[in-house]
Amino acid sequence: MVVANQKGGVGKTTTTVNLAASLALHGARVLVIDLDPQGNASTALGIDHHASVPSIYDVLVDSRPLSEVVQPVMDVEGLFCAPATIDLAGAEIELVSLVARESRLQRAIQAYEQPLDYILIDCPPSLGLLSVNALVAGAEVLIPIQCEYYALEGLGQLLKNVDLVRGHLNPALHVSTILLTMYDGRTRLASQVAEEVRTHFGKEVLRTSIPRSVRISEAPSYGQTVITYDPGSSGALSYIEAAREIALRGVTVNYDAQHARVGHQNHQRSMSEGIQ
Ligand code: ATP
Ligand code: MG
Repeated sequence: MVVANQKGGVGKTTTTVNLAASLALHGARVLVIDLDPQGNASTALGIDHHASVPSIYDVLVDSRPLSEVVQPVMDVEGLFCAPATIDLAGAEIELVSLVARESRLQRAIQAYEQPLDYILIDCPPSLGLLSVNALVAGAEVLIPIQCEYYALEGLGQLLKNVDLVRGHLNPALHVSTILLTMYDGRTRLASQVAEEVRTHFGKEVLRTSIPRSVRISEAPSYGQTVITYDPGSSGALSYIEAAREIALRGVTVNYDAQHARVGHQNHQRSMSEGIQ
C-alpha cells in the first residue's frame, strides 16, 4: 500500500506508522518502507537511521537485499521497518542513470522472502523517482487528505501519475483508500472539505476520519506511534478503527497473493475479534 500525496504535511507518515502499528498489534506482519529522505517514519518507529545505517538507499541504488536493511520495531511484535537515511536525498538524481530506475523497489520487494501481510510505503512530498518507485512496487494507493482549504489542489497531478504508472508499468495499481486526516469537527471548513472529498471519491473514502489530536503529534518525539504511546486516546482509537476498515475490506498484496489471502483471512478474524 503506497501512502502518497505530494502535498507536504498532510499526515502521510503519521498515517503510515499508525496504521502499520494497528495492523501489527492485531496479529498481522507488517513492513513499513520509509521512502522519504526526511526519515520521519523511521524516527516515529524508534528506528536508528543515522547516515551509516544500512537503509533503503542501499537497496535502491546499490541493489542491496531488502532483508539486510529491515529492522524489527521495538515494542510492536510483527512490525518491521526499512529505514531511510539522509543519503536518500541523493537517490532522486542517482537513480536517473541506473537501469530499471523505476522498478528497483518492486524488484527488491519481490526478492524479499519473509512472510508479510502488509507492506506500507511512506512517500516523500514530491512526485519524483522515489514516489514512482513506490507506485510501481505497490498494489494500491492510500491518499491521506488533510481537512483544510486547498486539500484537493494538486491531487489531480498525483492521480495523473497513478494513471501513467498503471498504463505503462503496473496495470493493477489503483487508488483504493482515501483517509481524511486532522479533522476538526468544530469547524465548518473541515466538514465542507470532508463532504467535497466524499462526493469526489465516494466509496474509497474510509468512514473513519482521523481527528486533530495533540497525542498523535507528540508520539514521534518519544520514538513511538500513538498506538503504543497512548492507546486509549481518540487519535489511537481512530487509527485502529481505520486499520480495521482496511483489514475487513479485503486488501490483497500482489507479490504473494496466496500468502496474502491466507494471512489476511486470519488477520480479518483477529481484527474483528480484537476490536469492539
Ligand atoms: P511530509 O510531506 O513532510 O512527509 P506528512 O504528509 O508525512 O509530511 P506528517 O509528518 O504525518 O505529514 O504530519 C505533519 C505534521 O502534522 C506532523 O507534525 C504530525 O505530527 C502532525 N499531525 C499529523 N496528523 C495529526 C493529527 N491527526 N493531529 C495532530 N497533528 C497531526
Ligand atoms: Mg512524511
